[in-house]
Amino acid sequence: MQQSQQREYPLALTIAGSDSGGGAGIQADLKTMQELGVFGTSALTAVTAQNSMGVHGVYPLSVETVAAQMDAVLSDMGADSVKTGMLFAPDIIRVVSAKLGQYGRIPVIVDPVMIAKGGAPLLQEEAVETMKVHLFPLSEVVTPNIPEACALLGLQEDDIRSEADMAEAGRALLRYGCGAVLIKGGHLPAGSAGGECVDVLVTGGAEPSMFRTPRLPTRHTHGTGCTLSSAIAAMRARGENLPDAVRAAKHFVTAAIAASVPTGQGIGSLWHAA
Ligand code: PLP
Repeated sequence: MQQSQQREYPLALTIAGSDSGGGAGIQADLKTMQELGVFGTSALTAVTAQNSMGVHGVYPLSVETVAAQMDAVLSDMGADSVKTGMLFAPDIIRVVSAKLGQYGRIPVIVDPVMIAKGGAPLLQEEAVETMKVHLFPLSEVVTPNIPEACALLGLQEDDIRSEADMAEAGRALLRYGCGAVLIKGGHLPAGSAGGECVDVLVTGGAEPSMFRTPRLPTRHTHGTGCTLSSAIAAMRARGENLPDAVRAAKHFVTAAIAASVPTGQGIGSLWHAA
């Protein structure tokens, strides 16, 4: 654990992209951390021009800009946990991995963000391999949804159709050196899990753990993945163990989905305030 001598409260760092529409990315991460009583810091990797209708532009930052933000935060303030989100390009992934290696043993939650719900690519195709090789071995947990797990493993999307398939995909991803894998089941066909949304946590030893919450009937779910991974990071920064952090994070996201709001003409976002 990296902790500055000056502070007596948990602090988490998000390394991710900006969503100008405020529902996902850095904005969702910082709101989540604040709501969970954790001081949030950020290293921005890319700016997106985005609203409820979709992603209108992606503007990656230079590797020097990303490295300088990480150095500034980690050399002075430290971090009790780190979350990575949209990283976009291979060179950004390489510099983030190198810096995380340099600053030592901080729990790293990797959300392997690839494609926005509207279809816009948030990770270049050639960056997928870089992420598996350089970042996954530094992770405490990687949190793909089903389409992301399929892309990472070279599967077709309907190859993962059940909780058993999710567990098998998680075990396959562990081979890249991830500390654990949380496969999120929100994309399973509605009704396949009895009206529930099930996430499967696969770790090295024990049987997989299943986390179940009600599946809520709203389309305003922009930012759910960002919110879940930053909530896990926040709970880890507060000292919870990984399964307890996942359980608390999943309940936090479910409550935020239950309170979600339309924000424009398209897909609305989660509401974070209690
Ligand atoms: N924009 C940014 C910057 C993100 O990091 C993400 C997801 O991680 C998204 C957009 C997409 O969010 P969603 O797929 O929930 O709409």
